[in-house]
Amino acid sequence: MTKLKRAKNGRIIFTKEMKKDYTILVPDMLPIHFEIMKYVFLNEGYKMELLRTAKPEIKQLGLRYVHNDTCYPALLVIGQFLDALESGNYDVNKTALMIMQSGGGCRASNYIHLLRKALEKAGYGQIPVISFNLSGMELNSGFALTVPIVRRCTAAVIYGDLLMLLSNQTRAYEVNNGDSARMIEHWVREITEQFKRSKGFSFKNMKENFEKIIASFASIPINKVPKVKVGIVGEIYVKYASFANNNLEDFLHEQDCEVMVPGLLGFLMFKVDARIQDVHLYGGSKIKLGIATLLLNYFKKVEKAFMDCVDRYPVFTQLSSYEDTKPLVEGLIGIGNRMGEGWFLPAEMIELVKHGYENIVCTQPFGCLPTHVCGKGMIHKIKEMYPRANIVPIDYDPGATKVNQENRIKLMLSVAREAMV
Ligand code: SF4
Repeated sequence: MTKLKRAKNGRIIFTKEMKKDYTILVPDMLPIHFEIMKYVFLNEGYKMELLRTAKPEIKQLGLRYVHNDTCYPALLVIGQFLDALESGNYDVNKTALMIMQSGGGCRASNYIHLLRKALEKAGYGQIPVISFNLSGMELNSGFALTVPIVRRCTAAVIYGDLLMLLSNQTRAYEVNNGDSARMIEHWVREITEQFKRSKGFSFKNMKENFEKIIASFASIPINKVPKVKVGIVGEIYVKYASFANNNLEDFLHEQDCEVMVPGLLGFLMFKVDARIQDVHLYGGSKIKLGIATLLLNYFKKVEKAFMDCVDRYPVFTQLSSYEDTKPLVEGLIGIGNRMGEGWFLPAEMIELVKHGYENIVCTQPFGCLPTHVCGKGMIHKIKEMYPRANIVPIDYDPGATKVNQENRIKLMLSVAREAMV
């Protein structure tokens, strides 16, 4: 067994030696984005696997090792890790886990400590846990988010957002069942191949790829009949991870709806922007301010290139740029409200309404105060401001039944269908 090195607080450091032969397990959240991102790390010499397990027992395992008032995403992710370790598919002396740490005030910064506690309790105290964060927390000699990795991961996020945006708009109307899914597979393969050749992530390459990707989706034969258009918002993990939201996107497609899921880039911009505002308001490192400003400006530049390309194809709808979302919440919630999804969550609801996706499912995980304040808490006021808004908050927790959730959504859809007539 590899000799374990510990940091001052006792956590196990993921070392350079571990990089060679440890497999890093990562819980999947967005299948397109994370699949491309995985290749960024494989190309850098890491061994990485995405966890896509979705058995109901995972929830029970999470409940056994995490206190039951912990928010639902933590419970699921920790349960999924433990299930993988118990599966016998991995050498538990050559496995590391990776988890996001947001660095913000809500519990997403503390999942990592809950996970380590659960590992100790379950007898896996030797397993190193790597924090994935952009705030410089918990450094490891064998893992670093270098500038090249951040650039490639940013490209992975943008490609993921673009493929998700386009495929959702073709999938609902495609003449040949499966065309959109096949097109996603093609582009994920193509982009990861480009990454292997150190291509596909420069600004120039991305612009070229954007054009080709949009043109290819525009060529999919569709039959654009009127359909109920539904947007999905909410806490980031439950909003995106099908395991957490009981396959919400698939369910809505089965109900013959067109689905719009706002992309990940906007959320990342919101988080980076929050770091900048913190330094302006409360002071802090000028270096961190400089890095955050550079990153935000880079995100804005790529977002503009992406949006300009989509604009050339009127067949596709896209939501607002990050900067254009801020004024949407004036009179509703202050932009100093930054816990969890903060002001950005009601902003996403409003931009969906303004772009014709008036029917919205707001995913609410159990134990999440930020989403209850900024999601559920905003719905009444948004409906007052936009009377056509038809928003349903759906709770996700280990005890909630899929049938109950789907019945509530069906009720929202029946209101939407009446409004279409
Ligand atoms: S946003 Fe909510 S669910 Fe997500 S980590 Fe924070 S408290 Fe938990």
